[in-house]
Amino acid sequence: SLSIGIVGLPNVGKSTLFNALTKNDVLAANYPFATIEPNVGVVGVPDPRLAKLAEIFGSARVLPATVDFVDIAGIVRGASEGEGLGNKFLANIRESDAICQVIRAFKDDNVVHVDGKVSPKDDIETINTELILADLQSVEKAIPRLTKEARLQKEKAAVLAATEAAHTILAAGDTLFSHGITKETEQGTLLRELHLLTVKPFLYVFNVDEDELADEDFKNDQRALVAPAEAIFLDAKLESELAELDDAEALELLQSVGQPEPGLATLARVGFETLGLQTYLTAGPKETRAWTIKRGATAPEAAGVIHTDFQKGFIKAEVISYTDLLTTGSVPEARAKGKARMEGKDYVMQDGDVVEFRFNV
Ligand code: GDP
Repeated sequence: SLSIGIVGLPNVGKSTLFNALTKNDVLAANYPFATIEPNVGVVGVPDPRLAKLAEIFGSARVLPATVDFVDIAGIVRGASEGEGLGNKFLANIRESDAICQVIRAFKDDNVVHVDGKVSPKDDIETINTELILADLQSVEKAIPRLTKEARLQKEKAAVLAATEAAHTILAAGDTLFSHGITKETEQGTLLRELHLLTVKPFLYVFNVDEDELADEDFKNDQRALVAPAEAIFLDAKLESELAELDDAEALELLQSVGQPEPGLATLARVGFETLGLQTYLTAGPKETRAWTIKRGATAPEAAGVIHTDFQKGFIKAEVISYTDLLTTGSVPEARAKGKARMEGKDYVMQDGDVVEFRFNV
């Protein structure tokens, strides 16, 4: 499955956040047979539709979609030169599908900042510089080889051109992502063999003081620093306290600081979107479940997430939208009112589709 690597300078609150993430672990409760690594936090993507469906279908359990967060230690100045944990750090980032930077914005004289002062802008630059330098090395190593290959293999010319364009961006101190280049774009596809870091989608967690959580001016300033990446604001200390509380107590604490939901819930949802994922839903007496698919997946691809046989033997999908199911109140009623659609193999799954697959075995 896809994962998000959590990186950040020392002492910014990564461990605090990560501990809160793992305490919220939905995995233990819902996926008892799964094994997880100690540095992986599996977080449920909040979706209020699931509880509603479970009510309609009398489901015994609810399984939300999940996002995997990987705690990647070891970013320091010089990481790109393989200093200290640098090499391991870069290898771990390479395996992640998105990069989540934790940035310190909280002020606390008792917590030392590695560079002596709290400055989100400088910290972002420090981290991005290491990632950009690592990519520059990869690109500079590849250009002479690609130049030779392009003389013999015509199709390599496009890879060379994309690599040279990437070099220009990186040499100017920018990430490829900030120039709109991702794995899915044409440029990104050509660059795939280089395994670059800064083509991965970025997102930013600002670890703020409680009183900054609702400070819109402050938040807009930080958003401007990281656009087009998404910014999430949370108080890691508060999140770790929330993780210890039951639902009612947590809600009370959230209301006292003017937050609609835990920051971790926002992080899971934004992370899920950053990975380019979406869900479709299945519901029945046994369980109501959100299944994870790539945005733009077709009905057979969606079926394949449940079981490869479902994809191979796909005949059609009976689809009812969540809202239609909610207003009609049951599958037979939805069918009677013409709200159940039979979709074929070219159907592109939509958010909120409640699905039952028909297939040959
Ligand atoms: P890491 O090195 O990035 O993993 O940082 P830690 O999670 O170990 O946090 C470093 C120190 O900062 C610890 O003493 C934490 O208790 C403290 N800390 C973490 N988050 C916050 C926060 O939101 N506010 C304050 N005041 N302190 C925090």
